[in-house]
Amino acid sequence: MDNQDRYMRQQMLDLYKDKQDFLASKKVGFIGVGGAGGLSSLLLTLAGVGEIRIADYDKLEVHNLHRQILFTQSNIGQPKVWAAQERLQERNSDCKVVAFEEKIDASNFERFTQGLDLLVDVSDNASSRLTISKLALDHSLDLISGAVSAYTALIAIFSYHDPNFVKKHGCYRCLTNGFPINTKVGITGPIAQNAAAMTAHVALEYLLGNKDHVGKLIKMDLKNIAISKLTLCADPQCPDCSNYRL
Ligand SMILES: [Zn+2]
Repeated sequence: MDNQDRYMRQQMLDLYKDKQDFLASKKVGFIGVGGAGGLSSLLLTLAGVGEIRIADYDKLEVHNLHRQILFTQSNIGQPKVWAAQERLQERNSDCKVVAFEEKIDASNFERFTQGLDLLVDVSDNASSRLTISKLALDHSLDLISGAVSAYTALIAIFSYHDPNFVKKHGCYRCLTNGFPINTKVGITGPIAQNAAAMTAHVALEYLLGNKDHVGKLIKMDLKNIAISKLTLCADPQCPDCSNYRL
């Protein structure tokens, strides 16, 4: 397949022009391939990112189908991550898709993230988000967090490789004050996919060098159709990152 043709339309944008080889050198990890993780990992796969690493330990349930676009009815009862790997790989053979059917925690974080340029946490496991953020911070790995709660999508961009960033903008725990966003509430397919598309968009822009969204919280209010961009602020009392301010 002629890759010049394949990526021609995105290369018409200034930021993407002549950057296809650069994108192909990038590796991005996704924690969660469900509602938001499915489309966001797919969009980066289609854009020509070199390696997509996905982690998920859930099995597909029937109530996932209305919003999780990588799966078919025949996948019910199967581990999501293998079905997702197959689906992503068949959409772009240029991209290497690696799957981990594991819950990512301190025991396997290094193995999962080794060599990654960016980690995207789009899981619906609120309790693990704080753990993942702290591990990413400790490993100086940049993190995009995408979450949806009812009609609200929240996407935050943390440049954890930069101590000055952490000093000023803090970490995911600072954002949530230790109370992760409740993702176990109602949701529709379009709400999940709006969050997924925005997450993928900021991830691509970030990989290509647009730092305008770093240190920002993008809030999408899909009830009133309003998008706002807020600046993340460090919590001086935060136990995860306060040592950056000593
Ligand atoms: Zn913090």
